[in-house]
Amino acid sequence: MFPEYVVPPESKREETPFGRYYDSDEWDASHATLQYDELADEFYLHVTTKHVGDADSERQEAAHEDDGSENGVVLGVDLNVNGAFAVTSTGVFIGSADHLTHRRNEFEKRRGRLQQIGTRSAHLTIQSIGDRFSKWSLDWLHNRANELIAEAKRSDVHGIVFENLKHIRKRISNAAKFQQWAVAKFIKLVEYKVEDTVLFVDTVNPAYTSQRCSQCGFVHEDSRSDKSFECLKCDYEVNADYNAAKNIANRYCAYIHRGQKSRGGWATCQLALKSGTLNVNGDFNASPRLEG
Ligand SMILES: [Zn+2]
Repeated sequence: MFPEYVVPPESKREETPFGRYYDSDEWDASHATLQYDELADEFYLHVTTKHVGDADSERQEAAHEDDGSENGVVLGVDLNVNGAFAVTSTGVFIGSADHLTHRRNEFEKRRGRLQQIGTRSAHLTIQSIGDRFSKWSLDWLHNRANELIAEAKRSDVHGIVFENLKHIRKRISNAAKFQQWAVAKFIKLVEYKVEDTVLFVDTVNPAYTSQRCSQCGFVHEDSRSDKSFECLKCDYEVNADYNAAKNIANRYCAYIHRGQKSRGGWATCQLALKSGTLNVNGDFNASPRLEG
């Protein structure tokens, strides 16, 4: 696979070494070394430049070959069966999974009591409260899906990225069938709702996304304790689901930078954060973005 490079966006280039040296007529690349970051599973190309004085214009043009590449921005989403139902890489907490579980438990309790009564009318009631609960939970999931899509539009992303369902199922295997259904149904609803928009939905293998520090990339299982995340290396303290959401988006961008074809067809990728975007090299761009 021919590599594709992450370079700073056009509008920010002048502020970066890339813009000042690599992209400049005054300097020319002399040699480069490829470095591998094992934790992030990413490659970095370190380019050495030398001053050329009278620049050879043909070689300058060659340095601009990256200009045609399109950059995409994705929203990472962590889904849960306790605490917040969905947490985005932009730090938005959507719905309470605890509330959903509470409503389900109330329904189960009522059904249990009615089953003990055992009369025909009790059975009819079971049917009707069952129907009502099904409708309520589906409505609830629809509303949460709408909130997530609204956040995706607000943060101007191209794609919404979840963990893949196989891994979610494994992670929440202790949760009741109902919660497993809710999470799967939620992803399906989001997929369905974005069909006639420019947004797409994709998934990643989330291995270590809950143990990885979204700030420095350090991975350790002891960094996470339930809902709190505290990096053992850089001391970054953050809500664990929010940290995971950022890692999910980061993982997707890493796929793109390794040459996987993106759903949007772009070559580079950034993750949407609270107040801007971050690329996999850790270069932060404050909002507003995607300009120029
Ligand atoms: Zn860290």
